[in-house]
Amino acid sequence: MDYYALPIANLIEQLSKLPGIGRKTAQRLSFYILEMDPLEAEKLAVAITDAKEKVHYCSVCCNLTDGDPCHICRDDKRDKSTICVVEGAKDIIAMEKTREFKGLYHVLHGTISPMENIGPNEIKIKELLNRLSNEEVEEIILAINPTVEGEATALYIAKLLKPLGIKTTRIAHGIPVGGDLEYFDEITLSRAMENRREL
Ligand SMILES: [Zn+2]
Repeated sequence: MDYYALPIANLIEQLSKLPGIGRKTAQRLSFYILEMDPLEAEKLAVAITDAKEKVHYCSVCCNLTDGDPCHICRDDKRDKSTICVVEGAKDIIAMEKTREFKGLYHVLHGTISPMENIGPNEIKIKELLNRLSNEEVEEIILAINPTVEGEATALYIAKLLKPLGIKTTRIAHGIPVGGDLEYFDEITLSRAMENRREL
């Protein structure tokens, strides 16, 4: 690090904290930024502070939003009787792109992970339960990722919902389009078999 002027070393250090950015990439990006038009570099810096300042959790669904409630919770055309529970705000974008789902969402902002000391109180489960006492919800779709933590989180939530008598479903996980059976792990394959349907 001694090779760099302090401000450059600092920039590399900060960029290398981003996910997927190693030391090498952080260095390349830093030099790129230093070569940028000052106005463009300024726009980048402002975009970061601006997004951090204006974006917060929706008070209803915990989606990331600059208004409150978020545009999905505000939309009268959405089916308020169904809530799709996802791990992160970016999962909403993925789901919206399918245009299949017309209900509301709830963002957990993580999964229960004893290994990383993340318990049920560290994610937005309480907020989900609070919603159920105020809203007329008929179905909760658990669209949590099929990881070990995701499965455990889905089971935990399903158990909490059971006494409330709300229909709880889990999205089917299986073989992606264009996939080749021999390359899938046994969890994927057995899940795909479990969720088979009649043709
Ligand atoms: Zn919302």
